[in-house]
Amino acid sequence: MFKPFSHIYIEEEVEDHFRTVQILEKFKSAERIKIKHYKDVFNKRGQNFRIQKLSPKLILAKKKDQYLYPGSDFSPNFDHPQFYYNTLALNCLYDCDYCYLQGMFPSGNIVLFVNWEDFFQSTDEFLEKHGNLYLALSYDTDLLATEAFFPATKAWIEFAESRQNLILEIRTKSGNYQTLAGMRPIPNVILAWTISPEIISKQVEKKTAPLDARIQSLKKASEDGWNVRICLDPILREPDWKDTYSDLVLKLRENLNPDKIMDISVGSFRMNADFLKNMQSLRQDTALLYYPFQKKDGVVSYSESENEQMVHWIRSLLSGWIIDAKIKLSY
Ligand code: SF4
Repeated sequence: MFKPFSHIYIEEEVEDHFRTVQILEKFKSAERIKIKHYKDVFNKRGQNFRIQKLSPKLILAKKKDQYLYPGSDFSPNFDHPQFYYNTLALNCLYDCDYCYLQGMFPSGNIVLFVNWEDFFQSTDEFLEKHGNLYLALSYDTDLLATEAFFPATKAWIEFAESRQNLILEIRTKSGNYQTLAGMRPIPNVILAWTISPEIISKQVEKKTAPLDARIQSLKKASEDGWNVRICLDPILREPDWKDTYSDLVLKLRENLNPDKIMDISVGSFRMNADFLKNMQSLRQDTALLYYPFQKKDGVVSYSESENEQMVHWIRSLLSGWIIDAKIKLSY
């Protein structure tokens, strides 16, 4: 059985931090281990990401620098010139077969940074200097999945409320909208749900919320007045993909009012080639990672013609339901 956080590592410096105390309250039976620096545990040599993922440990730490990173080429910037992300957490409660974090991090354990105020200050300094910012909040993690014990999503929405030139995108595969349901929707926050066909999701997006729960969450959020984005990204060329994506779009049509959806992001699978190599060295249990991808400029993806075929197929399914201007393609 999945049993998270039997052990919690705590950096000495944040031992008495009020947020550390609040998080520890939620995991009273976890064994606590004091450490000097999170990297002593997280970056240790010889760890096995896959084994750690079966029973991840929690690491509470203070981030000391780099509170903002420029958005990566793998993520669409939705035409926003100042596209950045931050890392309030490293790693994720979920376990998607295609997750690049497996190829990027040496550890399957989860780091939570408790010093949000430093992130807030740095964001304000950026806004002061550059005037505006499009910030992806849930980047090397799924932040809404941890909201019950690490309520950062709520805190950042409150932060954004008085900063209209800050646009927040909060992306999730959780069904945890109810944790935000009491909040007043604000125009500069985008709640984004990544969804995949049910059959694919059950196979390769392990531990994520079921498709129906995600759709119900995004439906409720859209009805409450939030800007809601649907992310069909990555589109996966799994067996019967045409049929499974047709079923998915049919489900969206049956459940959602397209006028209440801000946009739909459609993107194909793409990844840093070194990350994929690392992931293949870790696991032979998923065919998805062994597709004969094409490599170009250090990036692996399906071939250009396969990408075009998939993206255009999905676009054609969406056309006639949602206006074309709301369909954002990246491949
Ligand atoms: S939800 Fe995102 S961050 Fe979490 S395991 Fe899946 S792909 Fe990785």
